[in-house]
Amino acid sequence: MFARSLVGSDTQLNQKSYYEASVQRPAACPALAESLSVDVVVVGAGFSGLSAALELAQRGMSVVVLEADRVGSGASGRNGGQAIVGYASGQGPFVDQLGAADAQRAWDMSLEAIDLIDARIAQHGIDCDRAHGYVYVADSARKRHALHEEMEALQRRGVDVDWAEGADLARLIDSPRYVAAAREQRSGHLHPLKYALGLARAAQAAGVRIFEHSPVTSLQRGASLLASTAQGQVTARFGVLAGNCMLPEYGPAGAPEIAPRIMPVGTYIVGTEPLDPALCARLIPRNAAVCDNNFVLDYFRFSADHRMLFGGRVSYTTRTPAKLSSLMAQRMAEVFPALAQTPIDFVWGGFVDISMNRAPDFGRLGDNVYYLQGFSGHGVALTGLAGRLVAEAVAGQAGRFDVFARLQHHRFPGGPLLRTPSLALGMLWHQLRDAL
Ligand SMILES: Cc1cc2nc3c(=O)[nH]c(=O)nc-3n(C[C@H](O)[C@H](O)[C@H](O)COP(=O)(O)OP(=O)(O)OC[C@H]3O[C@@H](n4cnc5c(N)ncnc54)[C@H](O)[C@@H]3O)c2cc1C
Repeated sequence: MFARSLVGSDTQLNQKSYYEASVQRPAACPALAESLSVDVVVVGAGFSGLSAALELAQRGMSVVVLEADRVGSGASGRNGGQAIVGYASGQGPFVDQLGAADAQRAWDMSLEAIDLIDARIAQHGIDCDRAHGYVYVADSARKRHALHEEMEALQRRGVDVDWAEGADLARLIDSPRYVAAAREQRSGHLHPLKYALGLARAAQAAGVRIFEHSPVTSLQRGASLLASTAQGQVTARFGVLAGNCMLPEYGPAGAPEIAPRIMPVGTYIVGTEPLDPALCARLIPRNAAVCDNNFVLDYFRFSADHRMLFGGRVSYTTRTPAKLSSLMAQRMAEVFPALAQTPIDFVWGGFVDISMNRAPDFGRLGDNVYYLQGFSGHGVALTGLAGRLVAEAVAGQAGRFDVFARLQHHRFPGGPLLRTPSLALGMLWHQLRDAL
């Protein structure tokens, strides 16, 4: 029932990605085949690892990034591209565990995370189809009520919200599925793989050495760290584990303590053929990204070349659902009947690192290994900030990193074999609630 190798499922899920088909990747970085000594070794070249590497190099440190596959080949190069304010958990865990002042700091940092994307795009000349504008939608009276409360909270925190329902709804989205919608301008979207490749270029320009096809199979800890790959090793004073769900798949790599605190949840996206731009402008005016407020949510937007990129349909078993493309197309047609006959050109997916309370899980192992995980489907913006916070902490300014490191996280019950089925049962309950 459950896939044995997450890496196998994951690689297969990236075969028909719109993002991979719409970029020209540079020549591969070499695999590590030597012994190096640096200040910091970073495991993983997704947004988190690349952001940390860039910020560390900008602070004058020597940095090596070891990537098991290719830059941005994980969640960072395949996601919905939606850069969203706030946290998947909402503010709840921050307020409950840290108090109002630190919860406010965390909120402010989530806004900084969005601004950081734009600052990097500008500073490093990253061409990644960036667009601003975000629409939240509700598909039932109960969800409308919840959305209204969420939007009031957003406004109290200083984000302007434009609310629409009834006859007014089409101003924000033209879909029979929704009863209410709210638009804000802070959040938005981008082409995530173009952004990841741009971050890698910026990191390399700052002196970071990136090695692809170099999975870290062991990490010896102590005052000096030793990260080993099949043909090389890196000695470093500090380590950053930014391997997301795949980290433990290649060997311990420091993960036994932290891996049980996240759950790999599969989520999938289809990309249609290019559509008439006038139709796109009618269905989602002003090119916003959209997501609903169900627990298992639909998220969608148009690409720069006018394809509908429609995401959702999670799997808690790590096994790819059968007939994925037609299931997703059906779901898309329920939202936009005008797209019922539209051919699907791409279908892909990946694994989201869900934490138990859906708050991000950042911390240290000993005093020189930092880890970043638990983005819970809200990583496009937050990963960039996470990398910055790690760099601050390594450089001796840990105050902001520690806001997150103080959050308590729990292991999923049941160990590696049982935690997926128990999560699947829990999620089924939420899916049933969504349907009410
Ligand atoms: C289909 C999908 C849709 C999503 N949509 C959104 C969205 O719209 N908005 C949003 O905010 N978030 C979204 N997310 C989540 C977001 O993509 C992630 O939170 C974010 O990309 C995580 O970045 P990361 O750098 O931590 O991990 P990743 O991008 O997964 O990078 C980790 C890297 O580490 C490498 N690695 C792992 N182990 C090792 C090892 N032992 N040695 C060397 N390398 C290793 C992997 O190969 C990988 O490249 C989505 C995720 C998916 C899968």
